[in-house]
Amino acid sequence: MSQQQAQPIDEAQRQRDEQMLQARMKTIRRKLLVLSGKGGVGKSTVAANLAVSLALAGKAVGLLDVDVHGPSIPKLLGLEGKQIGVSGEDMSPVHMNDKLAVMSIGFLLPSGNEPVIWRGPRKFHLIRQFLTNVAWGNLDVLVVDSPPGTGDEPLSVAQLVGSPAEAVIVTTPQDLAVADVRRCVSFCNSLSLPVAGIVENMSGFVCPNCGQQIDLFKKGGGKALADEMSVPFLGSIPIDPDIVTSGDAGIPFIDNRTNSLGAQAFADVVGLLLGQQTPAHASVATENQGKEDRRMKIAIPVQAGRVSMHFGHCEEFALYEVNEDDKAILGKTMHKPPSHEPGALPRWLHELGANVIITGGMGQRAQQLFAQNGITVVVGAPAETPEQLATAYLNGALQAGENICDH
Ligand code: ADP
Repeated sequence: MSQQQAQPIDEAQRQRDEQMLQARMKTIRRKLLVLSGKGGVGKSTVAANLAVSLALAGKAVGLLDVDVHGPSIPKLLGLEGKQIGVSGEDMSPVHMNDKLAVMSIGFLLPSGNEPVIWRGPRKFHLIRQFLTNVAWGNLDVLVVDSPPGTGDEPLSVAQLVGSPAEAVIVTTPQDLAVADVRRCVSFCNSLSLPVAGIVENMSGFVCPNCGQQIDLFKKGGGKALADEMSVPFLGSIPIDPDIVTSGDAGIPFIDNRTNSLGAQAFADVVGLLLGQQTPAHASVATENQGKEDRRMKIAIPVQAGRVSMHFGHCEEFALYEVNEDDKAILGKTMHKPPSHEPGALPRWLHELGANVIITGGMGQRAQQLFAQNGITVVVGAPAETPEQLATAYLNGALQAGENICDH
């Protein structure tokens, strides 16, 4: 068969795969991708305990382990050797209880000890299959234990899961790990993947004798970084020898030690996650099914609660995620701008995923730089609150006047 004949079949198959993936993703209200700048920081431990804690909070939870290099969820939850059901193209997950279902690449491997050495396309195909073909039923939350780093694999996971989804970034307190997280946040920004927050793991040590917390290493790097990058800080999980022994014994730490400082720390993280106003939720409502969801981000420099007249000299930026179709504001985050150097703000706002800037005034050079970054600039905005301006822009009712300040 010639290549020309084969192509339409491949395209039809690709479209079918895409539709199936999207249909599956629509049965899940909230998707949390647990990421880390590198391996060994406790990403899988955090993913597993978050999933168990969310289930304890009464949510219908799926835990999906697509860490192709070292799927450790079956071991952590005592599910090694469990068989998964297969019906047609669908795989049924392993149920820990009536609230928590688990699926891991580890269930498909012949031996838990064998390293996974697969080529890129095979890994991509496998990740896609896992996202498409697992019959979760309706879920409140899917927690995804993603491959570590910011390379092709976590990129595939983020792209396949699609929007809406959020990242939970796990780090340890040391400077080196924190530097990796900075890359991780930029990675999320470049994908317009909202960061639900940073978790600092292995932060301080809980003495097994007295239960007191001792700060063995430095502490607070995760919080400082979250502040610097204007993303939420979800909390610190202490180093707790019980986390290792529970993991080794395959008993979820949270179930095992509900009164410990570590368990409390996980509960606090979950409390913050559940309390968050997530833009993600809004568009999963069933009435939206089948509709293309057109999202974008509007950035507005703010001074004393109103739009800044001098773009480069504002206190902070309000960033609105909006749905152009519904003309709805889905979420708002506030960001401290970097120091004022030529070109820094357009680059920074581009990394934050901004598509439109609304401001009182802006110099010509800055306007050119925004245009080069593919960002639309609206100058001459009236001195209103950022909410009023974002809403007016969405409704096509923004009355822009003269450029207030062109230097
Ligand atoms: P990753 O998924 O980032 O590679 P893991 O979750 O597999 O990391 O954790 C690596 C090791 O660190 C495991 O042995 C785990 O039990 C241990 N660990 C993770 N978090 C903690 C903690 N807060 N206290 C003590 N040990 C921990």
